[in-house]
Amino acid sequence: MAAETTKVLLVEDDPSAATRTTRWLRDGPRGRYELAVARDLGSALARLREESFDAILLALPIPDAPGLEGLARIQNEDPKVPVIVVVEPDDFGSAETAVERGAADCLRSDERRSPALARSLRYAVERRRTAERLEFLTRCDPLTGLTNRPYFQERLRESLARTSRAERTLALFYVEIDDFKRINSTLGHAAGDAVLAEIGGRLRRELRPYDVLARIGGDEFGIVAEDVSEARDAARLAQRLCEVLQEPLSSNRAGARLTASVGIAIFPFDGNDAATLLRNAELAMYRAKRAGGAQPAFFAPVLGERIHEQLALEGELRRALAAGELVLHYQPLIDLQTGRLNGLEALVRWQHPTRGLLPPAAFLPLAEKTGLIVDVGEWILWTACTQRRAWQRDGIVPGRVAVNLSPRQLHGDRFVPTVASILERTGLPGALLEMEVAEDLLVPDDIGRRALTGLRKLGIRLSIDDFGTGYSSLAYLQSLPVDAVKIDQRFVAGLDGDHGSRVIVRAVISLAHELGLAVVGEGVETPKQLEFLREHGCDTAQGFLLCPPLPADEVPSWAPPEVPADPEHGPRRPAEV
Ligand code: C2E
Ligand code: MG
Ligand code: MG
Repeated sequence: MAAETTKVLLVEDDPSAATRTTRWLRDGPRGRYELAVARDLGSALARLREESFDAILLALPIPDAPGLEGLARIQNEDPKVPVIVVVEPDDFGSAETAVERGAADCLRSDERRSPALARSLRYAVERRRTAERLEFLTRCDPLTGLTNRPYFQERLRESLARTSRAERTLALFYVEIDDFKRINSTLGHAAGDAVLAEIGGRLRRELRPYDVLARIGGDEFGIVAEDVSEARDAARLAQRLCEVLQEPLSSNRAGARLTASVGIAIFPFDGNDAATLLRNAELAMYRAKRAGGAQPAFFAPVLGERIHEQLALEGELRRALAAGELVLHYQPLIDLQTGRLNGLEALVRWQHPTRGLLPPAAFLPLAEKTGLIVDVGEWILWTACTQRRAWQRDGIVPGRVAVNLSPRQLHGDRFVPTVASILERTGLPGALLEMEVAEDLLVPDDIGRRALTGLRKLGIRLSIDDFGTGYSSLAYLQSLPVDAVKIDQRFVAGLDGDHGSRVIVRAVISLAHELGLAVVGEGVETPKQLEFLREHGCDTAQGFLLCPPLPADEVPSWAPPEVPADPEHGPRRPAEV
């Protein structure tokens, strides 16, 4: 300890006295000191905010703090730093009060350059170190260096209070090593201890610095993670913890595989106080063990199952994308005036190895939620453009290929450049590409609007999908750079019976035309619906009646069915369809 340097901040307004004390301490044989001098309280506090000191020497009086105010303000700034107050030789009152108020010691000014100062400093610093060590020992598990169980409970209570005030959620994890007894009995307790210490370090590395990690039992660890807003994030973290614990440990020389079970309880759903949450996380951990161990389990089992399924699906989808299991089908769009094919809508499917052909509703919402949609969307765009380009080269398919966009794609900052690059690399003219954005997903913000304008500049045609499901008025759509609206299937389906749908469809067609937008009727399933659309001037139709979505290789040989032309109600064509 003698070799350690003691950092002292000297608060002294008399420069020559400060210099003398500094020299006396620094150049004398009484230990190693590093000194900083502050001339008044203000600069002392500023200094304390920047760095920490082992002790403070406060020579009274100081100009900007009368009496013992300086002591109080320093303690306020750094409650742990020992302060030695130096007073005039006859100022016994201050000396006594200073010690009462928590000064580490009090010296007379004539003791400033005497062995008494060196002694006082040494005691103050040692006392502080001992206090810190004691505090550490009462809070810490000596084997792993992690927080111990009592202090963990205290931290959990603090976290709960904070989380509850902020109306947030918190996840509590209860980790227990599976069959740890075996390690102790086969390798001995010393080896068991080393394994536990290594596990502690491994868990710590997976967590954020502010997550609380503790050893709360022999082979049990507790983790408090604040701000885990979604159960799936908790599940993902727990999964990761299970995985890292399975990797070989250097302290486990026998090389036996170690696994752990993790129980998860979420505040406020699984308990409102520390004790309940801890108990429920432990119960969840037992459930994980009963299920075979080496896995996480939620206290709320339904939630657990759902999330487990989702996580599995997410992993699978990532793999599917790489393995080429996603496919595009193409659904023809028919020009209602000429009866000819005038475009194809690309619709994604997942050719799942065991579950068969999955529709987009089975996996796109998840891709959207996890952000995977950006990669999936890029793949879709690339594939549709490549396919359309190949058909163009062979001269077999007329019209545009339409691709559906997810709002998340549109809001990505690299979206327009990515599209431009795909067009360039596939050699497809922008004019042969169309993009569909669902109406209820079109939020009127600048980023989305800029992206739409950027796409338009590439020659891409834009249409609003599922029109009628959101709340936008046609007048609002007119303010967006779009070319067409696709009337939602629900209204088209309603054409067979309900009067309301007929009124709406008629109104949408005529208003859209007034605004210079083309109209597509989606989901046409009956001749009656087709007839109504054609009669009322709808430009294009799409639906099972005409053709279901086809695999790419069936498109070239597909021929449109006969759609009777109706010269009397010739559709208006404000924009090229
Ligand atoms: P959407 O863009 O409105 O696509 C039309 C949906 O209606 C397709 O369903 C199509 O198969 C179905 N459909 C076509 N004709 C009929 C019909 O006559 N009757 C009925 N009942 N349905 C018909 P699908 O392929 O299941 O796609 C559903 C939705 O998933 C799409 O709605 C679109 O919003 C989204 N989606 C599909 N593919 C993609 C894609 O590649 N990217 C993105 N972001 N979304 C996609
Ligand atoms: Mg669509
Ligand atoms: Mg649609």
